[in-house]
Amino acid sequence: MVIVSKKSSTVEQLAEITHKIEKLGLIAHVVKGHQQYTISVLGKTEKIQTSEFSMFPFVENVVRISKPFKLASILSNPDGSKIKVKNLVIGNSHVVVMAGPCSVESEDQTMRIARAVKAAGATVLRGGAFKPRSSPYSFQGMGLKGLEILKMASEETGLPVISEAMDLEGLKMMMDYVDIIQIGARNMQNFSLLKELGKIDKPIMLKRGMSATIEEWLMSAEYILAGGNRNVLLCERGIRTFDTQYSRNTLDLNAIPILKSLTHLPIVVDPSHGTGYRNLVAPMALAGMAAGGDALIIEVHDKPEEALSDGPQALLPTDFEVLMKQLVGMGDVLNRPVLKESTTKKAA
Ligand code: PEP
Ligand code: MN
Repeated sequence: MVIVSKKSSTVEQLAEITHKIEKLGLIAHVVKGHQQYTISVLGKTEKIQTSEFSMFPFVENVVRISKPFKLASILSNPDGSKIKVKNLVIGNSHVVVMAGPCSVESEDQTMRIARAVKAAGATVLRGGAFKPRSSPYSFQGMGLKGLEILKMASEETGLPVISEAMDLEGLKMMMDYVDIIQIGARNMQNFSLLKELGKIDKPIMLKRGMSATIEEWLMSAEYILAGGNRNVLLCERGIRTFDTQYSRNTLDLNAIPILKSLTHLPIVVDPSHGTGYRNLVAPMALAGMAAGGDALIIEVHDKPEEALSDGPQALLPTDFEVLMKQLVGMGDVLNRPVLKESTTKKAA
């Protein structure tokens, strides 16, 4: 159940309604909007009449949410969540571009690519230090050393950093090194990890499991939100495809407008994993932005033939530069400009 207060309601009135909610044995989650409060009422609300709350004169509306996801529902924050990452915001009228290598492979490789993506206009740096690989014999990531390199690249370029946590141990290690924690497709339903993510307040980018339905994905987000962390981004990264001859996955563009109608959580589109092939990345990045993506995450490598993971889908820095120009043009058409570096301050 969601209660929306009238525009001029006060802190005292909010306290009055939360007291009532708690007296009924329920939990109140409050989101302070521009001018009003939105209160999600959690717990066994089936037998509670909406009139219990609508009788308050400062309540504008009471709506039952029939979906299993409550805090992730658009009804619990109709203005849309705005997720702050250092000096930038994801989920407002700008489109944020994150870019960088699939894996941190060395200091030199990461610094080179970080400088290149920054020069082309990216405003967040990506790079994996812990890699979820299908084979135990493949490169598993540089671990802590990789995090140190990412931090160095972040300090030099001023770009905030996103990197993947695969388990609790890695998550703890990452807290001082990264600005957004990525939860990969393979861990989307690692419920014990999701519960831990609810206890921190760092932004989390939750990737869609490769065969996950939209509702399963939103329920995973709900775990993080219910734990108390409101800083959740969803990332569409492609779903399993039957035609593996021409693409690695199918980027589910439908999911973007569908999510926009269901949830307030900002949506990141990953055309790199969504396609698996370099030649498909730019068209799908443009399509993802046109479909309503709040951000894009793109893999870039200056020597893709030497990359330790995902070389075939990495854009060369020159390709990325061309794509950035196209995205800027798309932003003009859509009236949702690509966030420019000048709006973020240098960290160092
Ligand atoms: C990645 O971002 O490099 C990655 C492994 O992503 P996913 O979990 O989407 O496969
Ligand atoms: Mn990758």
